[in-house]
Amino acid sequence: VVRPQVSTVPAVFSTGAKIPLGLRRKPLRVVVTGGAGFVGSHLVDRLMARGDSVIVVDNFFTGRKENVIHHVGNPRFELIRHDVVEPLLLEVDQIYHLACPASPVHYKYNPTNVMGTLNMLGLAKRVGARFLLTSTSEVYGDPIEHPQKEDYWGHVNPIGVRSCYDEGKRVAETLTMDYHRGDSVHVRIARIFNTYGPRMCIDDGRVVSNFVAQALRKEAMTVYGDGKQTRSFQYVSDLVEGLIRLMEGEHIGPFNLGNPGEFTMLELAQVVRETIDPEAKIEFRNNTEDDPHKRKPDITKAKKLLGWKPKISLREGLPLMVEDFRRRVFDNGENSR
Ligand code: NAD
Ligand code: UDP
Ligand code: UDP
Repeated sequence: VVRPQVSTVPAVFSTGAKIPLGLRRKPLRVVVTGGAGFVGSHLVDRLMARGDSVIVVDNFFTGRKENVIHHVGNPRFELIRHDVVEPLLLEVDQIYHLACPASPVHYKYNPTNVMGTLNMLGLAKRVGARFLLTSTSEVYGDPIEHPQKEDYWGHVNPIGVRSCYDEGKRVAETLTMDYHRGDSVHVRIARIFNTYGPRMCIDDGRVVSNFVAQALRKEAMTVYGDGKQTRSFQYVSDLVEGLIRLMEGEHIGPFNLGNPGEFTMLELAQVVRETIDPEAKIEFRNNTEDDPHKRKPDITKAKKLLGWKPKISLREGLPLMVEDFRRRVFDNGENSR
């Protein structure tokens, strides 16, 4: 791909000056694996809005056609049902690789992180496409350093119940760097911290979706352990902005993409109460094995090299997902997961 020498962040996404018409780059062919999922579908919306041709590759393991249905019929959009564990032949300029069973209840089931990533890197190598891996803060395991910087190597149990996910993503990062060093593939690595927003899977067991769905259903919010463990929650539009800046920029990474605002699970329950139902109750449950005690991104590197930082706080972002959840939680059909 011949890339223009000017800023490649399209005018519609840039926060600064507009790029003159004559300098706008030509539309790209972009594949988004996992594009029918939560993060993927928001990314697809942004890529479609800037005029690119987008191919979504998804096996609908946790994703839903409804998330991208509004693009069906647009000649620039294509939806392919395919498991990335199997090889795939396409001609594209950029590959956003998100496909992955990404929550505790799903991720132990398959080898997507290894075989899927290998295939997408093979594809990137064959067609000379730029490849972006969506890795995770889980590569830091139960971190001993706090907050986590990108040069921290992590503290991960290789044989635990979460290993398929966190070790799987660590292997995916390794493969990505090997294809970069060995085969000169242009790669980017994002380490994503806990993200929430509309279209999140309702029943995949993540804490924000659980609490919001429970509060809407007038059920008690299930706090695991003593609720003092922390996470840092990022709104999905902030993440999508970071992913696009990373893909378009000149730096490989890895980059932490997350919101440094850190909350205990009890504090999160309180924000959900304020947002949905001040009467909402909490109920304590046993925690899962190997649960990280705390997690908070150091985003100095992304700020400096990508000019990126999150804009939406938890108290601003949570209300933005509630209407979508209200509709889906009380719908008994296909949209209710
Ligand atoms: P999601 O479950 O909504 O999306 C994943 C998508 O991948 C789904 O549409 C699913 O059907 C698809 N998929 C799964 N296995 C596949 C396969 N073998 N072949 C083709 N498609 C497959 O999850 P998400 O939250 O949107 O996560 C997207 C990516 O971001 C994942 O790689 C995840 O590891 C990463 N991530 C997300 C978070 C978060 O908090 N949401 C945090 C860290 C990393
Ligand atoms: N691959 C793919 N699409 C392509 C090119 C490769 O799915 O367009 C797969 C290929 O089937 C292989 C993997 O990517 O399983 C790695 O490919 P690579 O060419 O790097 O390795 P090789 O096939 O030489 O082992
Ligand atoms: N958690 C909780 N109640 C729930 C679901 C999760 O208290 O209903 C806790 C979980 O033990 C963990 C935190 O919330 O400490 C974040 O869990 P999640 O699965 O959302 O993300 P991850 O552990 O992958 O960061």
